[in-house]
Amino acid sequence: MTTNQNEESLILESIDRFLEREVKPFVREWEHDDIYPHEVVARMKEMGLFGAIIPQQFGGLGLSAGTYARIVERISVVWMSLTGIFNSHLIMAAAVLRFGTAEQKQRFLPRFATGELQGGLALTEPDCGTDLQAIRCHAKRDGEDYIINGTKTWISNGIHGNCLALLVKTDPAAEPRHRGMSLFIAEKGKGFSVSRKLEKLGYKGIDSAELLFEDYRVPAANLISGEEGMGLNHTLAGLELGRINVAARGVGLARASLNEALAYAQVRETFGKPIAQHQAIQIMLADMATRVEAARLLVESAAKAYDEGRRCDMEAGMAKLFASEAAISNSLDAMRIHGGYGYSKEFNVERFYRDAPLLVIGEGTNEMQRIIIAKQLIERNPV
Ligand SMILES: Cc1cc2nc3c(=O)[nH]c(=O)nc-3n(C[C@H](O)[C@H](O)[C@H](O)COP(=O)(O)OP(=O)(O)OC[C@H]3O[C@@H](n4cnc5c(N)ncnc54)[C@H](O)[C@@H]3O)c2cc1C
Repeated sequence: MTTNQNEESLILESIDRFLEREVKPFVREWEHDDIYPHEVVARMKEMGLFGAIIPQQFGGLGLSAGTYARIVERISVVWMSLTGIFNSHLIMAAAVLRFGTAEQKQRFLPRFATGELQGGLALTEPDCGTDLQAIRCHAKRDGEDYIINGTKTWISNGIHGNCLALLVKTDPAAEPRHRGMSLFIAEKGKGFSVSRKLEKLGYKGIDSAELLFEDYRVPAANLISGEEGMGLNHTLAGLELGRINVAARGVGLARASLNEALAYAQVRETFGKPIAQHQAIQIMLADMATRVEAARLLVESAAKAYDEGRRCDMEAGMAKLFASEAAISNSLDAMRIHGGYGYSKEFNVERFYRDAPLLVIGEGTNEMQRIIIAKQLIERNPV
């Protein structure tokens, strides 16, 4: 999928205006008080962001992954949490788009595009995140329904969302284990409840929740692709887009850290000159700027592969790995450059420093990204 330049510029300009007027002035208060930004979410729906990559035939904007990544970068410069609200939603939409039956696409995609259905991904459980094949949440067929029991944790949009891509075991005894896994479109209803809101170091504003499924009934018609045993494949394919999003968030956070440090270093003086004139500070600024550019190029390369329909787990993995580490390094350097003020809640850099570590955990930890990259390297370069 491609987005034409004109269309992209108009979208990016309207995002910039929205951020400047409706987010920037309030972000520190909302973030520190962990307030869910209902009005901003409603505005993001109005702007079409909940349908960003959903094709126009289903009511979405039909944007390319490249344009989507540029939107995510811009928003993350101002407040990364906002991108989490529509990212897991769009991963779910992408799974329905790629693997859903024709009936599922017609029934769900238009409602995802408007944000009437606010989706998310329910994969992780209290006892497993990386090793998804160890999940215990299970679904048992009962006539035209499945009955689901189990617990999910850390689910973004778990409280304010109303529909999740729910990964379960349909055959707990299957070998290999992934053959017994299935992915359902699970709308909130009887038997699907929030057991608690999780408190976090950063990434505030967005809800992270533990969810309980007790004899929750989901129609068999909501089994993505209509075939049992494909759930892990559908999930992992959807995570390619998720990793591009996380990488774009990393670029945004790394750039925000650079922007703040660059500005501060030119006004703060020590020993009779701005600290930006001290070589030790210049070296940090140079490394920060280089990381931003390198991370952005990796994101562009991964998004291009995704848009061309090529397999891109290696490219998305490299972008996610590098950009998230760049965000951590840059947020720490920005804090060093700000000296004591970097530790103050009155400056933004302490937030960047708290938000950045999430990027090395979500959508597959960076340890797993290295393993994925290495496996692909070997597979693509046989001797
Ligand atoms: C704020 C937040 C939001 C989240 N949102 C969602 C969401 O919306 N939906 C969802 O399903 N989940 C979500 N998660 C969960 C997240 O995806 C998991 O935390 C992540 O996948 C890691 O799983 P884990 O926490 O169980 O760590 P573990 O799997 O227990 O891993 C612990 C450590 O061991 C390492 N490790 C594990 N296996 C290997 C291996 N084979 N080789 C080398 N190292 C290994 C990991 O890299 C990590 O360093 C969220 C988490 C957070 C913090």
